Amino acid sequence: MFGRKRPGGSGGKATLSRRAGIFIGSLAVVLTTGLTGTTTASAAGYYEALFPAGETYRISQGPGGSYSHLDYYNRYAWDIALPANYEVTATQAGTIVRSDWYGTSGIEVMIRHPNGLCSHYIHLNRSFYEPGDWVPQGRIVGWSGSTGSSTAPHLHYGVIDCNTRQSLPSTLEGWTPGTGALLTSSNYKA
Ligand SMILES: [Zn+2]
Repeated sequence: MFGRKRPGGSGGKATLSRRAGIFIGSLAVVLTTGLTGTTTASAAGYYEALFPAGETYRISQGPGGSYSHLDYYNRYAWDIALPANYEVTATQAGTIVRSDWYGTSGIEVMIRHPNGLCSHYIHLNRSFYEPGDWVPQGRIVGWSGSTGSSTAPHLHYGVIDCNTRQSLPSTLEGWTPGTGALLTSSNYKA
């Protein structure tokens, strides 16, 4: 729906190794949560900001934005005014399912989360992982940019159906910042 994958890959992908210790630690947290009977709904739907802690960036276009966030694929997306080549972090732990050029998206990272939904981060200048790699929340998965259908550096982010790519409602840091809002990250792992 966005075009063909460009042969030859992302043009600047580096491979980073996984941190097994963090992975095991996260599994322990999930298990503990289950044993204490805490519902998983709130945790499963919580997404941290996608840049390092303590920093604030403006939402240049929020969900429903008239410029390009009205259609099936983008309705609940955010554009965040990150400069080029800035750290982009996973909003929730998960498994990398895409980390490559994808048509008008430019370089895209897509992560499948334990809740069964995917988050994606597009117009990147670089991506650092391969499909199948597991990343914790807060891990740097790429650098921002302006690849694909983009007129200036920014990060387009949203939660989508992993198969149909339908844009789905979600939150960042527990709220839904609209166009012009300032989003501050408390992303302690970044
Ligand atoms: Zn966008």
